[in-house]
Amino acid sequence: MTAILHTGDPERGALWQQIVTRELPDIDFRCWPDAGDPAEITGLIAWTLDAELVASLTNLEILFSIGAGVDQLDLSLLPPHVRVVRMIETGITNTMAEYVAMAALALHRDLPSYVDSQRSGMWAPRDVLLTAERTVGVMGLGQLGRAAIRMLAPLGFRVAGWSRSSTDVPGALCFADDAERDEFLAQCDILVCLLPLTDDTRGILDRSLFARMKAGASLINVARGGHLVQDDLIEALDSGQLRYAFLDVAQPEPLPEGHPFYSHPSIMLTPHIAGVTRKETAVHALIDNLRRARTGEPLEGEIDRARGY
Ligand code: NAP
Repeated sequence: MTAILHTGDPERGALWQQIVTRELPDIDFRCWPDAGDPAEITGLIAWTLDAELVASLTNLEILFSIGAGVDQLDLSLLPPHVRVVRMIETGITNTMAEYVAMAALALHRDLPSYVDSQRSGMWAPRDVLLTAERTVGVMGLGQLGRAAIRMLAPLGFRVAGWSRSSTDVPGALCFADDAERDEFLAQCDILVCLLPLTDDTRGILDRSLFARMKAGASLINVARGGHLVQDDLIEALDSGQLRYAFLDVAQPEPLPEGHPFYSHPSIMLTPHIAGVTRKETAVHALIDNLRRARTGEPLEGEIDRARGY
């Protein structure tokens, strides 16, 4: 690798330039817009892609995503030989696991209904269940799904997991693929979506999926807004098929003013802050991958471009 170019947040770029240059002095770390000769750049660090910039990087070898997902990058702009690496780092993993635990506990202990009661001036205790009496189901058993399970299981929840291939995850009863999906959904009191957004998973959180869950179950979507069919969610909440939804992601982001999600009494909305790339820790994941690229070792988080994750 000769030169790499950072795009996006200039503060992060300056910090990473300082640390990467100290750890790997032979790397020429550049920050947009000071790209220098684009033909010298073999690595690009980005959250989204600019078509004109990408076209000028004629010797690009590796694209490093700032985030854990890659669906926000238009990969069709890249020649097929360019490798794409998503961000796997403790900042994202820990904050995501914490958010899922926070939302699951809030749903478990009926926090949204107590907030409603408080606002209406009512003192209204409800039955309290044990975590062992609730099942939290996690869709997607990758880096983040497994991290969420590591946080949920010690809280005492019964945990179920679902992914494409059959995977064993300590602390969870796991189900695989379409054949076992309904069995998985039928036991969830709280469903967490941590799937990547691909052609196969777009719109997966829809009316037919909600109908396969227990009546009165709740949803936590921390993956991508494109997983959710918004009208189907509102219908499921209004009919009582679903009780509450915690949504950290939306389509589009930000949601336009006046969107029904802002005011729906059964929706808790946060502005895509569940799992956050921390520049102080993520730079070390980048440095590790730059070292791996040099020695020809597999890159941590390299995606299969044909599969989309
Ligand atoms: P990952 O490590 O790539 O794991 C993906 C998981 O999803 C794997 O278990 C995979 O199963 C499963 N999967 C993929 N397609 C599937 C399908 N069609 N049917 C069933 N299972 C399927 O991803 P990750 O690092 O855990 O991240 C998950 C997503 O979280 C990211 O893509 C991103 O969209 C989102 N995210 C959100 C935030 C936020 O702040 N809200 C932050 C970071 C990331 P197999 O392994 O069996 O193929």
